[in-house]
Amino acid sequence: MYQADDSAPICDQAKTTCPYCGVGCGVTATLEDGAITAVEGDRQHPANYGRLCVKGSALHETLSERGRLTRPRVDGVEVDWDVALDAVAGRLAATRHEHGDDAVAAYLSGQLLTEDYYVANKLFKGFLGTPHLDTNSRLCMASAVAGYKRAFGADAVPCCYEDLEEAELVVLVGSNLAWNHPVLYQRLKVAKTRNPLMRVVVIDPRVTDSCEIADLYLGLKPGSDAHLFNGLLSWMAAKGRLDRVYLEGHTRGFGEALAAANADASDLEAVATDCDLDAEALETFYYWFASQLHVVTLYSQGVNQSTSGTDKCNAIINCHLAGGKLGLPGAGPFSITGQPNAMGGREVGGLANQLAAHMDYHTPGAIDRVTRFWRTEQLTPTLPKGPGHKAVELFSAIERGEVQALWVMATNPAVSLPDAARVRAALAKCPLVIVSECVTDTDLLAYADIVLPASSWSEKDGTVTNSERCISRQRGLLPPPGEARHDWWIICEVAKRLGYGEAFAYAHPSEIFDEHARLSGFENQDGSERLFDISALAGLDRAAYDALAPIQWPVTAQAPAGTARLFEDGRFATDDGLARLVPITPRLPEQRLSVARPLRLNTGRIRDQWHTMTRTARAPRLMNHRAEPFIEVHPDDAVAYGVADQRLAVLTAEAGEFRGRVRVTKSQRAGEVFVPMHWTDRFTKQARSGALINGHTDPLSGQPESKHGAVALAPLGTAWEATLLVAEDLETARPWCGSDYWARIPMRGCQRWQLAGERAENDWLARLAEWLPEAATLWCEDSGDGRLRAAAVKHGRLCWWAMVGLPAELPGLAWLEQRFNDAELSDTHRRRLLAGGDDGAADTGPTICSCHQVGQKAIVSAIRDGDTSVEALGARLACGTQCGSCIPELKSLIEEERAHERAKPTPETQVA
Ligand code: SF4
Repeated sequence: MYQADDSAPICDQAKTTCPYCGVGCGVTATLEDGAITAVEGDRQHPANYGRLCVKGSALHETLSERGRLTRPRVDGVEVDWDVALDAVAGRLAATRHEHGDDAVAAYLSGQLLTEDYYVANKLFKGFLGTPHLDTNSRLCMASAVAGYKRAFGADAVPCCYEDLEEAELVVLVGSNLAWNHPVLYQRLKVAKTRNPLMRVVVIDPRVTDSCEIADLYLGLKPGSDAHLFNGLLSWMAAKGRLDRVYLEGHTRGFGEALAAANADASDLEAVATDCDLDAEALETFYYWFASQLHVVTLYSQGVNQSTSGTDKCNAIINCHLAGGKLGLPGAGPFSITGQPNAMGGREVGGLANQLAAHMDYHTPGAIDRVTRFWRTEQLTPTLPKGPGHKAVELFSAIERGEVQALWVMATNPAVSLPDAARVRAALAKCPLVIVSECVTDTDLLAYADIVLPASSWSEKDGTVTNSERCISRQRGLLPPPGEARHDWWIICEVAKRLGYGEAFAYAHPSEIFDEHARLSGFENQDGSERLFDISALAGLDRAAYDALAPIQWPVTAQAPAGTARLFEDGRFATDDGLARLVPITPRLPEQRLSVARPLRLNTGRIRDQWHTMTRTARAPRLMNHRAEPFIEVHPDDAVAYGVADQRLAVLTAEAGEFRGRVRVTKSQRAGEVFVPMHWTDRFTKQARSGALINGHTDPLSGQPESKHGAVALAPLGTAWEATLLVAEDLETARPWCGSDYWARIPMRGCQRWQLAGERAENDWLARLAEWLPEAATLWCEDSGDGRLRAAAVKHGRLCWWAMVGLPAELPGLAWLEQRFNDAELSDTHRRRLLAGGDDGAADTGPTICSCHQVGQKAIVSAIRDGDTSVEALGARLACGTQCGSCIPELKSLIEEERAHERAKPTPETQVA
């Protein structure tokens, strides 16, 4: 058996990579006494050169073994590995025997390492003969993949991060880079400071923090991106701004693409009206784009997550090809992935329409080549002959009973897929659900027949590929807890039990990587057949693999040091070497608004959380920026629908609802609302964004339309609101979760619960006695208006603290949080419990700077005292001085205070 800890370093500092977003930052971890005690950015890593965002810098705070899965379970009973692996193999074999090879499927994740992905793909497609292996990366960047393939003949990101720094114009489309790829945003910001001629344009329906550095903001109507870029192509042609030499020498399809663009968008005024933009601002963008050669258009989920996502990508790429703006420093259409190893998954064939190593089923000779490489000629079944079900289709196939066994690894489709209620129904119906997971507390585990405890970040050992094709080592620094094992090991052990031991006899991930590298170069002389070629990395011994420095593919005999930028020679991966422009006829989003559901829904990430919060919620400081699920609403809509800032509301869609706290903001367009994608049933009553989204997908990429839903908004009628802080070791069956609203917010040493109910409570002390095992020892109550504060202290320790009243009335909770960590409360502290602290322990408000835990109220107070610049605030409060992610919010607060000052009545206006 592979020893989980045999790669643990003996040194006290080790280099690895961050497991969150697609930037793929290098991390230097400090190890002391078998624990990671600190992390900092790896100064040598080319993705971040020493920077980390707030999530990355809190990595070491997320590593507690509390809540980790440590034992396999079969049918709810803890078992040893032999029993669990036999059960997986036996039940998969039985399903295939009874229902056929296509009845088994796998659903993987961009959180897996490339080596995990490789063996999973090899087992399912190569040896079990099923094409139904897909990944949650389908939800994130499948449209970008399809767009690149149509244009370049390969899923090849042409740019590198340095291009962002070398560009004269950077266009962010559907990307809140400041929150979702913060280190890349910081790099762009520094480059813009160094090059005053650089311009940044933000194209996004929402005013996001990325607008902080925008020279031009285009707040377009959601879904109108392809129309806008068709307009750009048409405008460039009309103004003689095309690169005719490039078009003639390196592309095909321009005539058709231009004809489609002209038919759609030749009239600038009409395009501006259709996109809901100012015509002058739109033409300014067109002029800037057309007059610069060094243009990077960076796009992300705002473009991809659409039923016409692939077309949107190609509308962007068309404009770059028409202007010859790629294959150069500082130029190109640049898709940024959401997940740390979405790219690695694409490389091994982790999407259901791929076979392996960037070969599709229809790639000439691919099935035969992969069959010979994996030596599966003698097998029955043989490799599948065509693509399998993409994510949304896969769960429909489960619902129909066609797929009878599903193995899910490192993801949570019960939360993240659209049409979440149907997905849950399909999971409940599926006869065999196997889940490989790190933590005990996910919504998916309720549906699992077999649970396999997997290793997590800091334990996993392998490689990942970031958004600029850079392969980096993620190193195993600590042994997995308990019986947890690496995903590749689990897959190989199942393969052995199914009779494929010889093909899965890897002793270490370096051997898997070697095979992956060899397959990439198999019958692919120096990338002549397939662009993805890392054959020069084949044959690394264990030491060389362990020491592997970040390197960008292709890595071939001709380019042994890797390749920063693709298509510099103007040759593409199509059969004739020419790139393709694609005619685009824009389509509207599938989900239509109606009288019953008149608001357009947008969904997305927030700055301090990652996916379903299983890791980031373990670092309490990351919970303070946005503590509860929320609904962002334009002020006009707040009035129209009777909801108020910081009060609770409910969104209702065709298939589900979302309960959250309202944030009234002008950064939202009227008629549109935004909700975060992170909250699950583990953290709140009902705030899964997937419940609001229908399962409409892009016909080419299969990517769901997660950025577009139709909803109704209404206040959540509440007779009371309460805040409960409960000591961690006093957590019970949580009876308060029967309330009409609840949200759990992990803190240090306690859990905070925000609660609300629709029916009035008459006797709060009785209700608290019912909910909590310890009786109140201190309380004060205003029976007139139902307000109450109470606490329980036992043997000198604070057990719980409660306040009935609106959250706006809460004292600062930092003082109370400390009291939950006191071994024994002092008399002074006990006297101040109900007040929630010392006189000096004022509420500093929601956290703005998570690195230094600086709250909004403290910042506003400092601004009012005269610290009216980011630098002055940093000097006084330290906010914004570490990762810099909060600087846009600091600037917004400064602006708001200035506006507030300007709006104050002067003596003259008062007289008037
Ligand atoms: Fe991690 Fe992304 Fe932050 Fe880098 S920018 S530290 S990869 S979350």
